[in-house]
Amino acid sequence: MKKILGIVLAFIIAFSSVLPAFAEAEHNPETCTDVPVLVIRGMDFGGLYTDVGTENQAAAIRADAKAIVVAAFKGILGSMVKMSFDPFMESVADIASGIFEYIKMNPDGTSKHDVGAIRYPLAAENYDALCEGVDSEYGMIRAMIEEIGDHAYYFNYDWRIDPFVVADEINETVERMVSETGHDKVNIACCSMGGVMTMAYLTEYGYDRVNRVCFMSSTFCGGQVASDLLAGQLEIGADTLYNIAENGTRDIPVVNFLIKALKYAGAFKLVSKLAGLITDNYVDMVSEKVLNPVFGGTLTFWALVQPEDRQGAIDFIMKGKPENYPDLYPKIQALWAMSDGRNALLDEMLENGVQIAVVAHYDTPLVPVYEGASMNGDGILETYQMSGYATVAPYGKTLGDDYVAANPEYLSPDRVVDLSTAILPEYTYIIKGAPHVSGTYETDYSDFFVWLMTYDGEDFYAGVNPEYPRFMLSGADQSLAEFK
Ligand SMILES: [Zn+2]
Repeated sequence: MKKILGIVLAFIIAFSSVLPAFAEAEHNPETCTDVPVLVIRGMDFGGLYTDVGTENQAAAIRADAKAIVVAAFKGILGSMVKMSFDPFMESVADIASGIFEYIKMNPDGTSKHDVGAIRYPLAAENYDALCEGVDSEYGMIRAMIEEIGDHAYYFNYDWRIDPFVVADEINETVERMVSETGHDKVNIACCSMGGVMTMAYLTEYGYDRVNRVCFMSSTFCGGQVASDLLAGQLEIGADTLYNIAENGTRDIPVVNFLIKALKYAGAFKLVSKLAGLITDNYVDMVSEKVLNPVFGGTLTFWALVQPEDRQGAIDFIMKGKPENYPDLYPKIQALWAMSDGRNALLDEMLENGVQIAVVAHYDTPLVPVYEGASMNGDGILETYQMSGYATVAPYGKTLGDDYVAANPEYLSPDRVVDLSTAILPEYTYIIKGAPHVSGTYETDYSDFFVWLMTYDGEDFYAGVNPEYPRFMLSGADQSLAEFK
C-alpha cells in the first residue's frame, strides 16, 4: 500500500511539472527562434485624420465640392473679364490650397492643425485591419502575423513631422516589443518613407536593439522627387509624359498604338510646352500658395533632399534666407547631418553584426512633374536612391553596350542597373518590374519578404538563398524569377 501510494505520488509530482506547459505553452525567449519583427510603413498620403480616434474622425485631405465650384467659377469669370489667365490659375492654386489645408505645417515644422495617424501600439494580431491586409505594408504585416503571431508589430505615424520625433516613437515601440516578447533584439522592415524614419531612429538611439534592418523600396538615401519639389525643379517633360502614357496602356493595344502615334505627331512635346508655359509663369504663385505652406515646413521632405540640391531648396523655399526660419532651419541641418553620417553608421552596424538588406525595384515610369522624373523608378521613388546610389540608366534606356561595370557581377543582365557604385552592393536586391513596396498577400514577393524577415542564418548577403538571387524579375502578379 505504501509502495502504491509512493508510485501515485511520484506520478502526481511528475505530471505537475509538465501540466503548466500544457496549460499555458509558456513562451521562452531563450529558446524561441522567432525574432520579433517591426514593419514600419511608408507615407500614407490619405492616412491622416482630424479628430483621430473620435466619432468625428475625418480624412485630413478633403475637398469641399461647393468651395471648389465657387473658386473655379470666380477664376473663370475673372479670366474672362480681365482677358488674362492669371485669375484662373490663382483660383486653381486656391482650390489646391484648400484641399491641403489640414496637412499644412507651421513655419517651425510642427502641424498647423490637430491632425494624427491611426496607431497600432499592441502586437499586430490585435487589429482586424492588419490581420486582413492585402497590399503592400498591409499584406506584409498579415504574412508576418501568420508566420510569427504575437511577435509581429506594425508602426504607423504622421509622415509630415520631424523624423527625429518619429524616431522617438519608433524607440518606444521597439522597447515595448522587447518588454512584451522578452527578446532583446528586433528585426525592422522599413518601407518607403519608413527608410528615412528608421535612419533617424538608428542615428538617435543606435542599433543595440536591432538584429536586422531591411530597407524595402525605401528613402534611406532620400528621394529625388522631394529634392526637386523643394528646389523648384518642376517640369512636365515630353518624354516623361509619354513614358507614363505608354506604360499605362500596354494592356490596351489600340490605345497604346495611338499613344505611340501621338508621340510621332509631336503631341507630347506640345503638351509639355504648354505645361512649361504655365509652370514658368506661375511657379512663384503656386509655390507661395501651395508648395510652401504644404511642403515647405514638412521636415520629412527636407530630410530627403540630396546634398547637391540643398542650396537650391534653400533658395527656392527660403528665398536664400535660412536665417528667416530660426525654428525650422536647425532641424533641417540636423537631418542633413544625419544623411551625411548614414554610410558610416551602416558600415559600423555591419561590422558589429547587424544584418542589412536593401531591396529596390525599377522599370516603372515616375510621375512626370519634376526634372528627375526621367530617372528609372518604381512608379513612386527613384531606383538610384532606393538602391543606395547604384548607377541606373534613365527609364526606357540602358547604360549602353560600351558601359563597363567596376564589378561585372553587379551589372543587371539588361545593363540598366550597376550596383558597383551602391553603398551596400553585397546586400542589395534589384527587382525589375515590381511596383513600389510590393508584398501583396499570398504572392512570391510576400514569401520573399517573410524569408527576409525570418531567415536565421549567419550570412545575410543578397543571393545567400538561391531561390532569391540578387537580380530578380517580377511579374504583374508579383511572381518572382531569377533575372539571367
Ligand atoms: Zn519569442
